[in-house]
Amino acid sequence: MQKIGVLALQGGYDPHLRMLSGLKVEAYPVKTLAEIDAVQGLILPGGESTTIGKLLVLQGLFSPLIERIKAGLPVFGTCAGLILLSKNALGSSQPLLEVLDVDVQRNAYGRQIESFETQVELLWGTQAQSSAIFIRAPQIVRLGDSVKVLARHEGRPVAIQQGKILAASYHPELTENTALHQLFLSLV
Ligand code: GLN
Repeated sequence: MQKIGVLALQGGYDPHLRMLSGLKVEAYPVKTLAEIDAVQGLILPGGESTTIGKLLVLQGLFSPLIERIKAGLPVFGTCAGLILLSKNALGSSQPLLEVLDVDVQRNAYGRQIESFETQVELLWGTQAQSSAIFIRAPQIVRLGDSVKVLARHEGRPVAIQQGKILAASYHPELTENTALHQLFLSLV
C-alpha cells in the first residue's frame, strides 16, 4: 500500500488524512525528516503559509524538503501549501520552497468571512466540474511554461501541475471530490 504523509506543523492536515484514508492508502501526519523519508508522497495542507514556512526553517526541514522535491518526491500543496511551493508571493518576503514555477498573490479572494464554495472547471480526466472551497485563497498570477492548468475558475487557473508537483488554490479535501487526490496518488 502507498504511504502518504501530510505535513502536520500547522493548519488543516486532518481533512487530508481523512480523504486519503478513504482512498485506501496509508496516510500519516508527518513532522520530522525521518517521517518524511518514510512516505512516498507528501501533502502540504492549507493553513498560514508564513507560519508553516517559519516552522519548516526552525525544524531544519526547509532545505532537505527542497532537495527531496527536486529529487522527485511527489508533493501536493493546497492553498497555503501552494503558496509555499511557489517561486514568489507578491509583496511578501516569507520563506518559500520555490520549486513550482508560479507567482501567487496571497489572500486575493478576500478575507476569512469572504470564503466561498463554488464549482471549478476541471481540464483533465472525466469529470467536467468539481465543488471547491476557497478560504483566504491565493490567486496564481504568473504561470511558468512547464506548468499545466488542471482547473479553472472564472477563467483563472486554480489547480496546476508541474511534473510531480500538484497545487490548488482551493481546498478539495473539504469537499467530497477526490479527483485531485486520486491524480496525486497516480503520480506517487
Ligand atoms: N491566506 C493563507 C496564507 O496566506 C492561506 C489560507 C489557506 O490556506 N486557507 O497563507
